Amino acid sequence: MKAQAIGSRQAEGEGIMDRRGFLKACAVGIGAVAGLGSARALASAGRGRKALRPEAQLRLGSQEWLIPGGSLREKVANLEKYGGTGLEVGDRDLPGRVKEIREALAGTKVRVSAVCAAGGPYIVPDESARKARMENAKTLLSAAADLGSTGVIMVPAFNNAADQLAGRPARDLLLQVLAELGEHAERVGSRVLIEPLNRGEAFFLRQLADAASICRDANSPGVAMMGDFYHMRFEETSDMGAFLSAGTYLRHVHLGSASRKLPGQDDRSFVDGFRGLRAIGYRDFLSLECSVKGDPEEEIPASFRFLKKQWKEAGA
Ligand code: MG
Repeated sequence: MKAQAIGSRQAEGEGIMDRRGFLKACAVGIGAVAGLGSARALASAGRGRKALRPEAQLRLGSQEWLIPGGSLREKVANLEKYGGTGLEVGDRDLPGRVKEIREALAGTKVRVSAVCAAGGPYIVPDESARKARMENAKTLLSAAADLGSTGVIMVPAFNNAADQLAGRPARDLLLQVLAELGEHAERVGSRVLIEPLNRGEAFFLRQLADAASICRDANSPGVAMMGDFYHMRFEETSDMGAFLSAGTYLRHVHLGSASRKLPGQDDRSFVDGFRGLRAIGYRDFLSLECSVKGDPEEEIPASFRFLKKQWKEAGA
């Protein structure tokens, strides 16, 4: 009866009128966006949410191995001198290094940004292998919490695990792993940060929106994600769109140019991505993960200056 009533209204033209109204509204919206330029319009929309979100901050840092220095203390001092405040540490012997890292940071403005974990793949069909990797991951999450970092970066599976996972639902397996790791991370006060890579390195998890949907389904404060400008160049159609889709799940960013050199050492622009980070009120660290062309003592500070200029441009 209800279906019949709807059908009769459409027959009278009401349905057609509704669609016309919808198309008219869309045309107005598209015109407004076109008038401003889509990127700027979306960034403006983001700025309009300022009252709801804290203002974004550009907090630069680096993986520890890139920074010159004979000791960790020297590296931290140099990073601070260059204008960075986030130190991303490796996972090797991490629980045993907590004291050394804390002492190296003492009296400086530098903090541990994230822990970069080389372990994995985490989504392997063999249960005992999977359990062993998860136990290691839990140890790293606990150490990361002791260091006050945003979380532990994990790649679910690289291309060398593709054969093991053939025919298996990798996403479901990852959600199983994240349920256990997320619960541990939440309990100790840390996060798993899943990282999308490019197709040359990983057959699975390549776009930020995909990572965000996995975080949504994991539904745990202990599960979040990151983005890497180098990989994003291959996989994303819009840096800004990718960061907008990540939203509040985004808790870390890697910086690398198109050729995976320091930002500013080739023509890779970061402005579009920075517009997205500004729009979502991003306040976690952005960390160098790249090689350096030239003298790091001169080139790293120059790269930080370049990034600060592009951040300013993205807010204009
Ligand atoms: Mg990376």
